[in-house]
Order: sequence, then structure tokens, then C-alpha cells
Amino acid sequence: MRVHLINASTVSFGVAVITPRWLYVLAAATPREFGDPHLVDETLERIDLEAIAAGDVVGIGIHTGNALRGYEVGRAARARGAWVVFGGIHATIFPDEPRERGGAHAVVKGDGDLVWGEVIRDCVAGAPLAVYEGGQIAGDHFLQARWDLLPRDRYMWASVQTVRGCPKHCSFCSVWRTDGQAPRQRGADAVVEEIVELRRRGFRFIALADDNFYPVTLGDLEAARRRADPRRLRELEALRDDRFALMERMSRLPEDLVFYTQVTMEAAEDPAFLDAMARARIRGALVGIESVTPEGLKDVYKGFNLAGEDLVTRLKVFRAHGVHVLGSFIFGLPSDRPETFTATVDLADRSDVAFAQFVMLVPLPGTIDFTKWERENESKGVVVDGVPVTRHWLIPQDHRPQIYSPHPTMSAQEIRAHTQAVWDRFYSLERVWARSRVVRSWRGRLAFVLISKLYRQMYANTGIATDSARVARSAKWASWIAKPCRRLFAARPMPDLQVPAA
Ligand code: SF4
Repeated sequence: MRVHLINASTVSFGVAVITPRWLYVLAAATPREFGDPHLVDETLERIDLEAIAAGDVVGIGIHTGNALRGYEVGRAARARGAWVVFGGIHATIFPDEPRERGGAHAVVKGDGDLVWGEVIRDCVAGAPLAVYEGGQIAGDHFLQARWDLLPRDRYMWASVQTVRGCPKHCSFCSVWRTDGQAPRQRGADAVVEEIVELRRRGFRFIALADDNFYPVTLGDLEAARRRADPRRLRELEALRDDRFALMERMSRLPEDLVFYTQVTMEAAEDPAFLDAMARARIRGALVGIESVTPEGLKDVYKGFNLAGEDLVTRLKVFRAHGVHVLGSFIFGLPSDRPETFTATVDLADRSDVAFAQFVMLVPLPGTIDFTKWERENESKGVVVDGVPVTRHWLIPQDHRPQIYSPHPTMSAQEIRAHTQAVWDRFYSLERVWARSRVVRSWRGRLAFVLISKLYRQMYANTGIATDSARVARSAKWASWIAKPCRRLFAARPMPDLQVPAA
């Protein structure tokens, strides 16, 4: 009996940017008596189904974007006589769907770290439960990933997690519902040990795969003080102190390490936090800007962000403190108009943002937007390829509509064309080269240009395009750029590196 863990994907690039952490965490959760699991990341290459035998246990992690491919793999694995288990955000939200569509014997809801061993044992005994409640485990129970199972020379960035959960409640995001609003922080020792192991193996670029690395804002502390709530204040202060303790430990790691994470824009009000990030070599952060207008921010329940010129000033604070921003913008909000697209890319240019992503609003399951949209659309009974449009992720990719909420003034095609034009403008060679001045060395600038082009190829051209030929062409391009890119990110292994003392 063998355990297989599969990260499903319809597009394979040969080389990937970030390691899918969950594969290596569940590998660690696989009891040693069952041997090393067989890990398949389809963003590298398609699974070879011949490797699956009757009686094997196949774990497939899905989010909404790869659910359909996951179900295809699940059915094929079941047809070969394997036990099929689904987990991940999408399976947590729709636990019946993997059984109906993906050949699942069992579904794990929530975190798999602790429950996965039990699932395997039940499968081996021939009696898996239909649903396992993995729950939201405490930060000190998060497992160290099995990095010894990483294939060589395939990933540019490794990934380590320091916190799950986010206290915010943005309308388009499911994280605060699936991972909870209470930040579950991992101890500094466990995080630093994992980073050291990765640096020993030659990774110097590491993504902190956190929901929100900055879960306690100065505003939260102030509010607890105003409410005269000493218990809450102490809790928040302890969480904040732990962040600083972690960053202090990270600052004593080798100087060539580069970390990247996600924070809310409120971090710019907290210079002490930004300075600690810079000392810890957290050189970049994804910041959810979403919209450049106050109306747009209201659309997504993100009133804590700024808009217009205040936003430019706020974003520049990150750069001034040595943290480069990957700005994330959403298009297709009800208040968006044709001029919003140009205004957004102009603002991104002016505000010292190093990278940007421009995504189209899709009501994703688990979000407030989805619940509202599903309610509005259920009665309309729109069906594509026999699938209700309210289950859009089950529609074959080629026929899937791209924008699902009718916009008050623009067609879906218009929104898509504007969005593509914004990607094209922001990532034109001229603009990318100008932005690459943030790094000093020629090698660094070259890496910046290549990664910018790769990012655009992987996310804009394969994500926005509806035509499968274009997606396939883009994937090919991306895989050509990805290979030289990977070499630029690799570092000489440091097998003797020691964990800095606490
Ligand atoms: S979008 Fe970011 S800030 Fe908003 S709930 Fe999701 S993780 Fe939290």
C-alpha cells in the first residue's frame, strides 16, 4: 500500500514558482509505518496514473480553481481501486461534492495536520468515515514540512507558514471563514528551524505562506484600550510580541535570505513593524489594495484601506522602510467604470509598487459575495453544459464564463479586455526595466525582469484568457522563462548552517 498526495492542476510548467506547502505538510502527517508518500505536483507535470495501485490511499487537495481537475484525478484513482480522500478549502466548504463528482470515499474538513494519520489507517482497515473534522488546530500543532522529499531543481521559492487565520472579513475572501478570524501563530522556534532546513538545501527565497502576517494592528490595540478591555489588550499584545520575537530570530539568519509575505495596508501605519520586517529580510509583501476608489473599497467591505492620493502616500511608506509591495487589485466591482482601469494602473505606477496583480471579481465559494450572488442567481436557473452557473467551477474550463455577476455598466468582455490591457501596460518591458531599479546588481535586475514577465505569463495569460489555445501557448512560454528564472533564485546549499539560539 502506498500513499499518494496530489496537487491537481490543468496547466503544467515543468518548473514552479512556489512549493505547494500542503503536500509536504501532509507528507509529514503520514505515519512513518506507511513509508514516504508519493508526491505529485501537477503544476510541474501531469500525474502518471499507472503509479496508483488497488488499495493505495490517494489524497487530493483542492481549492475552487482546481476542483474540476481534482475530481477527474479522484475518479481515475478510484477506478484503479484506490481509496480516495479529498481535503482543502473547497472540500471543506462543499464536503458532498467530492463524493458526488470526484469518486471520494472520504473528505477532510479543515486542517489535515493531525487527522491525516487516522484517515490513512481507516482506509487501510477498509472503513474510512465519510467526513473527518480536521478543525482549526492551534499554531503549536502545525507540522514541520517534509522538505527532504522535495524534488531537486524544480521550485524557485520554498514556503513556510507562520500564522493561519485573519481577523478581517473582506467580502470576496473565504480565508477568515475557513481558517477563522483568530490568528493562530506558530512559535518562532518551529518557524526558524524550518527556514534553516530550507537554507541548508539551497533555498534562499522563502514565501511566508500566511493568511495575514500582520494580524494585530495599532488600531486593534487602541480599540482594546478604549474599551478598557485589559484581557483582550493582553492577548493582542502577546500576539504582537510573538511577531516581533519571530522577526528578531529571523534577522539572525544568513544575510542572503529573502522572505515574502502578505500583510494588510495598515502595516504602513506601524513603522516599528515595517522596520522589524526589513531587519528580518522580509523584502516583499502582497498588499490587498483591491480598489483605488472609496466606492470600490465599500463594495468589498475594505473600509480600512485608503483611496486616491492618500493611498499613493501610504504605499510609498512600505518602500521607504525597505518592504517592496506586490499590489493586488480587483476589477469588475459594481462601482468600476472604464476610467477606473487607467486610474488603477496610473496609481500603481506612481506608488512605487514593485509588482502588481489585477484579478477579475469572481464570487468564490465561502465568501459573502458568493452567498449574495448565489441567492440572486439560483432563481434564474442559468445552466452551462448542464451545470448551473452557480457551480461555475464545475463547468469545463473552455466554456466557463469569466465574470459571473452582471455589471451595471460594462459587459464581461469589456472588463476582460480592460483588465488584459492593464496587465500589458504594467508589465511592458519599458516599465518593468524602470521598476527593476529597486535592485542594485545586474543579476538582480535581470531576475526582476524575468520574474515580472513570468508572473504576467503565468497569471494574466493563463488566468484571464478564455481561449484554450492561448492558455496553452502562454503555459509553454512561462515554462521557457521559468527554467532560467529558477537558476537565478537558487543558492549554494549551506549543509552546516545552525539554528540561531533563542
Ligand atoms: S483579503 Fe486578506 S485581509 Fe481580507 S479577509 Fe482575506 S486574508 Fe484577511
